[in-house]
Amino acid sequence: MSNVTNFGDQLTELKEQGLLRRRRLAGTACGPEMLIDGKPVLSFASNDYLGLASHPHLIDAATQGMLRWGVGAGASEYLGGHFPPNRDLETQLATFFGAERALHFATGYMANIGIVPALAGRGDTICADKLNHASLNDAMLLSRVDTKRYRHGDMAQLAQLLAQTPSGRKLVITDAVFSMDGDMAPLRELLALCEQYDAWLYVDDAHGFGVLGEQGRGSLAHFGIAAQRIIYMATLGKAAGVSGAFVAAERVVIDTLVNHAHSYVYTTATPPALSVALLQSLQLIAQGDALRAHLHRLIVKLRSGLADLPWQLMPSETAIQPLLIGDNQQSLKLSEGLRERGIWVAAIRPPTVPQGTARLRITLSAAHTEADVDQLIVVLHDLAQES
Ligand SMILES: *Cc1c(COP(=O)(O)O)cnc(C)c1O
Repeated sequence: MSNVTNFGDQLTELKEQGLLRRRRLAGTACGPEMLIDGKPVLSFASNDYLGLASHPHLIDAATQGMLRWGVGAGASEYLGGHFPPNRDLETQLATFFGAERALHFATGYMANIGIVPALAGRGDTICADKLNHASLNDAMLLSRVDTKRYRHGDMAQLAQLLAQTPSGRKLVITDAVFSMDGDMAPLRELLALCEQYDAWLYVDDAHGFGVLGEQGRGSLAHFGIAAQRIIYMATLGKAAGVSGAFVAAERVVIDTLVNHAHSYVYTTATPPALSVALLQSLQLIAQGDALRAHLHRLIVKLRSGLADLPWQLMPSETAIQPLLIGDNQQSLKLSEGLRERGIWVAAIRPPTVPQGTARLRITLSAAHTEADVDQLIVVLHDLAQES
């Protein structure tokens, strides 16, 4: 943390550390080919893993939804009414994930900061992976619970923490696919520990839903696990291509959230037209085996194509393929070098990732072609030669 009190000086300090964030103007819809700050680029920066964000079927569904239901929902679901598309989406999500119930939130960030404090409070314990998403960390602060963070993927440390936990509800929280690393949580082992110590397992599958498992059912399907004690959350703005999030769990959990999750109760309902689009998206996801197979081929191609770079790809089998650079300024320079050559990959720096692990976060999408990936491989090799 800075000890500078003046906002301007604080920003200057950030800039000197190579940590200033700057937004770039997107002049086209989300897709592989974009205009960024007026310049055509091939983008490897979105989480639109199946290429649904600009899919004509979704655009058509959203348009039909707006003609029928208008643009805005007008109020929260308690005050203004629970619209049928929003209700149908919850029913279909529950069915898709084999859960008793599902509850729909406006965004993944809102879902996490609402769900966690609703499920655990004073006297309870939360154990969380150190590399969990920022929204989960914020959620734990809001819950005012005694939180214990274990080293990334360290099941022995988690077992120790759970063994030392006094009475009260226990909740273990993890990303299923880690958003800045691309690796997966050991969900089987996590579930076994939660069974042993009678803890709930809260899984954030923002990057697994739609991409992994049979019919895109996500990380639980990928590992072939299911249990009443799993509370499954995923987002609808990544592979699903729209926006929003949901949680699927047993009925008592969902009823608890409907009553206690502030970010559900005290916010304007999702526009029903978006739910109409999401119902369409769910169908495309379920039928999307060809898209997932293509995405998988691109992942394999990228990894073999970048194996001999001076920078290491992190150990990931998912669509998130970070290239570890280390230094903040160097990662910015590389990101800039890529942009000059017509490729857009974001540099990810602290505090999003730990100090000294700045990286280029490459994300692949089924909307990319093999030729797109070849181009990225060639340009990264050019930059390696120059550096
Ligand atoms: C993106 C993300 C979120 C937040 O979801 P939004 O819908 O973008 O607010 C939550 N958790 C993880 C792991 C994410 O990657």
